[in-house]
Amino acid sequence: TLRGMFEQTVAKYSNKEGLVDLRLGTRWTFSEWDDEVNRVANALRASGVEKGDKVSTILFNTSEFATTLFACMKIGAIFNPINFRLTEKEIQFILQDADPKVVLFEKATSLQVVSVAKEMTGVEFWSIDEEDLPYALNYNERINGVTSERPVCELDENDPYAIMYTSGTTGLPKGVIHTHRDMIDQALIMTACLRLEENDRGLTVAPIFHCAELHCAFFPRVMIGAANVLLHHFDAPKVIETVKQEQITSFFAAPTMWNMMLQEDFSKEDFQTLRQGLYGGAPMAPALTMQLHDALGVQLLQAYGMTEMGPAITALTEEEQITKAGSAGRALLNHEVRVVRTNENGPAEPEEICKPDELGEIIVRGPSMMKSYYNRPEATEEALYKGWYHTGDIGSFDKDGYLWVSDRVKDMIISGGENIYSREVEDVLFDHPKVIDAAVVGEPDEMWGERVVAFIVKKEADLTEQELDEFCTSGSRLARYKRPRRYEFVDELPRNASGKLQKFKLRERSTTLSE
Ligand code: AMP
Ligand code: MG
Repeated sequence: TLRGMFEQTVAKYSNKEGLVDLRLGTRWTFSEWDDEVNRVANALRASGVEKGDKVSTILFNTSEFATTLFACMKIGAIFNPINFRLTEKEIQFILQDADPKVVLFEKATSLQVVSVAKEMTGVEFWSIDEEDLPYALNYNERINGVTSERPVCELDENDPYAIMYTSGTTGLPKGVIHTHRDMIDQALIMTACLRLEENDRGLTVAPIFHCAELHCAFFPRVMIGAANVLLHHFDAPKVIETVKQEQITSFFAAPTMWNMMLQEDFSKEDFQTLRQGLYGGAPMAPALTMQLHDALGVQLLQAYGMTEMGPAITALTEEEQITKAGSAGRALLNHEVRVVRTNENGPAEPEEICKPDELGEIIVRGPSMMKSYYNRPEATEEALYKGWYHTGDIGSFDKDGYLWVSDRVKDMIISGGENIYSREVEDVLFDHPKVIDAAVVGEPDEMWGERVVAFIVKKEADLTEQELDEFCTSGSRLARYKRPRRYEFVDELPRNASGKLQKFKLRERSTTLSE
């Protein structure tokens, strides 16, 4: 179990630095961290949390998150990390769906929980900050004086360990159930893929509530006895400073975060201790990959996946970054990936395999695939049709067996009967030296059904629509029907906490503007 994994690390590396919380300035050895975990576990029990009960958190990257996470495992409680960027309404929906016994939050998220907290009587709300709130208890007071003795609990490797809600850019968020065993498998595979070892020092900058950070970076490091430094939230200059100060060797960031770091002033010297940078969760334009490679001079590794898969299923290694820039790489150990023909009347058939370079839906299976969605039998059946998770992503394999992710099925643009995949257009726009960020969506068009509209963040103020149009159509960069018919220059693009573009917001914007 994950509890066993944690306690094994504690036994092996008891006096080694385990967790550093930059916000509080605390530095704990693995054994001090374990004491704290046990205290929180016993405090949760004292509040009535039993095996199978849920505990929710609406926290940034904090030691309270990292501690409550393992505290839940110690007593068989199910951990439910919630995206701190969600609105009050979305949080309310998730809390009602997950039905937790205890909810942890912090000052920065208190506005999103206050009315829910007043409504959900019988649920304890714990604030990790010193605030006098009539509807909440104080975390430190709850654990003050509680014994750090290890709680006894019967656990099975197939017990659920967490419920994680998917981003839900369309429809209501769904809770994904993961078990102890499955997340150990994911952590083992990532430990091998990243070649992590006990002397590594990891930094958490991406939101820890999301499984990309939690399962692909944080768990593997804990498993191997590496140190974990927590930065409360992403801040480009702060990340660069911390890498140097804390002698960080490895960290994960979303493509948009890497892009923000590139806009900062730094030298290769600042990244001297860093031996690898990880990215994933959203596509990264090849132009950006190249710039990063030159600027940082470190190994970059990409992972592709989704919450339902634990999440990682494919990876692109350092050597492949150059030769296969833009590809999502190849299947991770013990994982299977297929591209199959889409089916308008239902889930795609796993046996209808596409030929190389033929686009289809990406379907996957592996040891860390979710057991089910929480309370959603129909959605589960559809998503896990014939034992394969149907990703809703469109992509293809090239002749060398590398996967290319083109678009979300739902984001694909159909113009004049032709499919246009956003990624292809966005990658071209990214290639323009005066573009920092770019996204395209479809907007209604009387003649063509839909037409491409591009949202651009400029690097230089003098960039014009005409210049971009010429760039797209010159050479053989983009077929004419794929080029954006309209441009909008914006200060930034709407993204969620894990760096994914919120295209529904762009579509809403584009329809209101063209009306
Ligand atoms: P989530 O479950 O919130 O992590 O979202 C998963 C989705 O993010 C996938 O289905 C993809 O559409 C997208 N995604 C994740 N990783 C990558 C990647 N490396 N390249 C392109 N898209 C990605
Ligand atoms: Mg498994």
